[in-house]
Amino acid sequence: MTPLQALHKYFGYSEFRHQQDAIVTQVLNGHDVMALMPTGGGKSLCYQLPAVLLPGLTIVISPLIALMKDQVDSLNVNGIPAAFFNSSQTPDEQRDIIGRLKNNRIKLLYLAPERLFGTENKLIDFLRSLPVSLFAIDEAHCISHWGHDFRPEYLMLAHLKDHFKNIPVIALTATADKLTQKDILEKLNLHQPAVYVSSFNRANITYRVSPKNKSFNQLLNFLDKRRDDSGIIYCLSRKSTEALAADLKEEGYSAEAYHAGLDHATKARNQEAFLRDEVKIMVATIAFGMGINKSNVRYVVHMDLPKNIEGYYQETGRAGRDGLPSDAMLYYSPGDAIKLKGFVSLENNEEQSRIMLDKLNDMSAYCELHTCRRKYLLNYFDEDAPDNCGSCDICLSEFKKFDGTLIAQKALSAVYRLNQRFGLGYVIDFLRGSKSEKIRDEHKQLKTYGVGADISKAQWQRYLRELNAHGYLQITNDEYPIVKLTDKSEVVLKGLQKVELTEAQIIEEKAEEVLPYEAALLDQLKTVRLNFATYENLPAYIILSDATLLEMATYLPQSMDELRHISGFGDVKLARYGREFLEIIKTYSAANSLASKMKPRPAKRQAKPREAKTSNTQKESLNLFNAGKSIPQIAAERGLSPMTVEGHLTQFVQTGGLEVTRFVDENKIPAIQDAIDSYGTDRLAPLKEVLGDNYSYTEIKAVISWLKRGE
Ligand code: ADP
Ligand code: ZN
Repeated sequence: MTPLQALHKYFGYSEFRHQQDAIVTQVLNGHDVMALMPTGGGKSLCYQLPAVLLPGLTIVISPLIALMKDQVDSLNVNGIPAAFFNSSQTPDEQRDIIGRLKNNRIKLLYLAPERLFGTENKLIDFLRSLPVSLFAIDEAHCISHWGHDFRPEYLMLAHLKDHFKNIPVIALTATADKLTQKDILEKLNLHQPAVYVSSFNRANITYRVSPKNKSFNQLLNFLDKRRDDSGIIYCLSRKSTEALAADLKEEGYSAEAYHAGLDHATKARNQEAFLRDEVKIMVATIAFGMGINKSNVRYVVHMDLPKNIEGYYQETGRAGRDGLPSDAMLYYSPGDAIKLKGFVSLENNEEQSRIMLDKLNDMSAYCELHTCRRKYLLNYFDEDAPDNCGSCDICLSEFKKFDGTLIAQKALSAVYRLNQRFGLGYVIDFLRGSKSEKIRDEHKQLKTYGVGADISKAQWQRYLRELNAHGYLQITNDEYPIVKLTDKSEVVLKGLQKVELTEAQIIEEKAEEVLPYEAALLDQLKTVRLNFATYENLPAYIILSDATLLEMATYLPQSMDELRHISGFGDVKLARYGREFLEIIKTYSAANSLASKMKPRPAKRQAKPREAKTSNTQKESLNLFNAGKSIPQIAAERGLSPMTVEGHLTQFVQTGGLEVTRFVDENKIPAIQDAIDSYGTDRLAPLKEVLGDNYSYTEIKAVISWLKRGE
């Protein structure tokens, strides 16, 4: 099988992204590789695909135990046997994994570095006895002091090459700076490594910065159009994450907080709820996010200024891993930069402090740009970029210059009248004639008070900043910055010089050439996905990504053959879930007189997916069931999901072919019936919730079918 065939068969993708193709080939040829790709770029595939094709075991070193499960679940639903080893497992579970490893029945094993080399439960001797084909070091920058996420336990990996002499190693990271790169290569002792640096551009993310002004209102405005979307909101302090999450809840949003100070159980619960779309918004400190593979994060908001571009870029990169359009929004106040200065300077480490301060300045500069933000970001990572990206707030705006002399005069004379002793906010309130008690009474008597009432607060902020940038005003660098006049102020005030200001106008966002999709159908597909997810106890995006659902709702595949051309359906997912989705699409298309929009594409592979006979598929499940097999056994035997098999069988309850008591104890039926009376049968999750652990999905479904008998 070629790598491309395997890509289609196991992952359901029709082409490689970035340099995946070359990387995979190098790894398969036994070379050491270092791959740098942006977050969401598709690093995992660079070792997962070789792992499938190589004869032995691939060992993946990953820093966060909590997130290995996600990766392993994703692999398993694609039919790739994978496992992880960690302290949360029982001895029985661990013995089971050891057994499967001995029989060469696992292709990928995820481990934390201390598991491999640590003094406790050392695995290295056992692993050396296995046919290991490849090591993958995920988040490899953790080995470097220069990276922003150094982890001492990663230093143990320096011994890897001593213990596994000729086994190829692939190191992967989304951190690109040169020092870190060099460090990774040296510390891991890679042998003549092939180094791949992908473009760091994340074309599907739109970058925006907005002057911070009543940020909660600004945020509500932003969220209003994104009510059904998942997003991450970053705050600087732990306290503010909790406060903001509470405020958002009060506004009817589904939000939770996450920070390092929460107890372990709360953190795990909130993260899990977010991954499973039960909570839409995660309000978090930067402690949240590394290794989060949730692909349908639609936006990332920064309420406060990040400390450096590296962190900012990684955090925003968590949006849009599925490739769909996504937003990065930052609320910026120059005051934040001043506050942060205290944070970033380290005692007794002048050199490090200077580096951090420089990085902070680069971050502020980004926020004050009048040129393309994407270009700035890419240049920061030593990459060229065109002047206009067409999808950042700057490139989406048109700047018009106009004669702003009068506005400038109003502003300057306000500053003068206030004796150059007040901050930006006060000056603006004064100009706008605010009735607030904060404005001193004597100031309310002044002639300039209220002369700028026709201009909005946000607009005044922009004008004052621009006057500052052009040197007509000065904003001091103090903890509480004060607005002062400059040498250039006087000529303006005297009317001897004109001042040009710019006005930004958002041009209509270019309607992209996208095919329209069937919104109602998309909702139905999401429900089916959620049912699978709830049933299999997995996050929905592991079953299928949003992008895959969107493709289905756009192209309306009408046969299994067409469905397998939808990106994201590998062979196993197609067999497990395909039929259910196809049924929904066909019914919807027929009801709305719609036809398939899939262009006939050349078949990528000759072999057809294993197809059960459509007509008799339910019967086949029934026969196996009657022969005494359990639902999981039937599912495994037929390559279907347990939920599908259950669907087959419960249908026979409805038609009278099977007794309901084959699935549920008679005594339990009344309680289930009660719950159905109160909550209906549209969604199973609420029923399961009220009924509790003593009632299974199977039991609930059986009763639903039984109640519908004769329909
Ligand atoms: P990274 O680890 O680099 O942040 P991931 O490996 O999690 O990124 O990949 C991001 C998303 O892109 C995943 O949902 C993955 O399945 C998807 N993906 C990876 N490679 C491809 C490809 N060649 N075609 C389509 N989707 C891909
Ligand atoms: Zn741009």
